[in-house]
Amino acid sequence: MVDKIIQLEKRSKVLEPDHKTRQDWNQQILNYANQFLDQIDERPAYNEGDGREVLDLPITSTGHPMAEILEIIKKGVDHAGINPASGGHLGYIPGGGVYPTALGDYLAAVTNRYAGIFFANPGAVRMENFLLRWLCQMIGYPETALGNLASGGSIANLMAITTARDWKEIRSRDVERAVIYLTKQVHHCVHKAIRIAGLGESIIRYIPMDALFQMDAETLRQQVIQDQAAGLKPFLVVASAGTTDVGAIDPIDAIADVTSAHDLWLHIDAAYGGFFMLLDGMQARFRGIERSDSLAIDPHKGLFLSYGLGAVLIKNVKALERTHYYRANYMQDAAADDQEANPADLSPELTKHFRGMRMWLALQLFGTDPFIACLEEKHLLAKYFYQEVQKLGFETGPEPALSVVIYRFVPQQGDPDVFNQQIVDLIKKDGRLFVSSTTINDAFWIRLAVLSFRTRLWHIKLYLELLKGIVKN
Ligand SMILES: *Cc1c(COP(=O)(O)O)cnc(C)c1O
Repeated sequence: MVDKIIQLEKRSKVLEPDHKTRQDWNQQILNYANQFLDQIDERPAYNEGDGREVLDLPITSTGHPMAEILEIIKKGVDHAGINPASGGHLGYIPGGGVYPTALGDYLAAVTNRYAGIFFANPGAVRMENFLLRWLCQMIGYPETALGNLASGGSIANLMAITTARDWKEIRSRDVERAVIYLTKQVHHCVHKAIRIAGLGESIIRYIPMDALFQMDAETLRQQVIQDQAAGLKPFLVVASAGTTDVGAIDPIDAIADVTSAHDLWLHIDAAYGGFFMLLDGMQARFRGIERSDSLAIDPHKGLFLSYGLGAVLIKNVKALERTHYYRANYMQDAAADDQEANPADLSPELTKHFRGMRMWLALQLFGTDPFIACLEEKHLLAKYFYQEVQKLGFETGPEPALSVVIYRFVPQQGDPDVFNQQIVDLIKKDGRLFVSSTTINDAFWIRLAVLSFRTRLWHIKLYLELLKGIVKN
């Protein structure tokens, strides 16, 4: 048996590359990454291609050289589809990718620290909770509030909605009488979350919006009163602080008046818009946000981190714990006298990515100032575009509260929806920029979403030039 073990050790030791091999791999990966970043402004924001090259490399028993692998990544992954690292990405809600995210992930992965339970790594847990408290403080939640670093806004919203369900004691038999209030502009992940949380059969009330796509709080109040009088169980309002379609912020203070008067849970989806609160002069738009019970916010959007970080914040951490806490016998070594709440007790996850490191590293290296400047720059770029696109004869939606603009060109002849779809397709074909569209009240609108930290004035000017060329013909 010992002979066999020694033999196997030889084979398995390949998993621990020596210093020289590591250096060689690091160098190749670094060269690749540096080339990617050095050429980022020349790279298209959108590429044709179906990524099939990835399938050309079979998984073998002995592996492939790094150079061969990188070639496949280059062709199959980094030259096909949308390039979210590009400043030319102006569709959906653009991605970020500030460099310290990569370095933070690298360190987190190499050291493989476990940030789920205080006793397993007190520093890592302190770091994650410190970041959550920093976010809570930005919102104006009390010091006792906490939350969880999740993979993104969808999971953050899901955790908040399940927490609201349990705290408001919506049991299985109550679901058909339970009422949830939202607008038609709420992000689709909220609908997914409602379904996943077992609330798919509850009553959804779509509250009408004003011309700026903001929830009408007075109608909400009347609807809640009516539903309570009818013996239903209103329990949750989901408001948006920055809708995906137009960046609208619901009147949170007025909505909080309703939820506090009628004892409903107020959840705010601020996945896209939340960090705009850091801008001077922007706070008034978010008035009352601290009165909410929970909030979802995406550092992989408004803090420009790479994909993979969304936070849920919960004012009453006991509620989050009630839904997510569990202790198994084989976890009995995790001490009860922990000085910090365990992320694993506040999340469906047990073993998890140490996500705090990437955000902490970025904030510690840069400080907050460049982030705030970058957000204001994006806000102003959207406003600039809003002005200039009107000069080209486009119809527009509301003036951008944050950094999303909707606009459409109504040609003298022909179907405007078809014409605007053609514009989107032509931009995609050009490839230097990428925009997406939406349908609002049955009309096709093109969107401009400025949130990549790399989007600059020249991208917007280039886009306006392209649009000018298209509508002139
Ligand atoms: C992006 C977004 C979400 C979903 O977040 P993910 O991080 O993509 O899961 C939810 N709500 C709004 C308003 C968003 O913009």
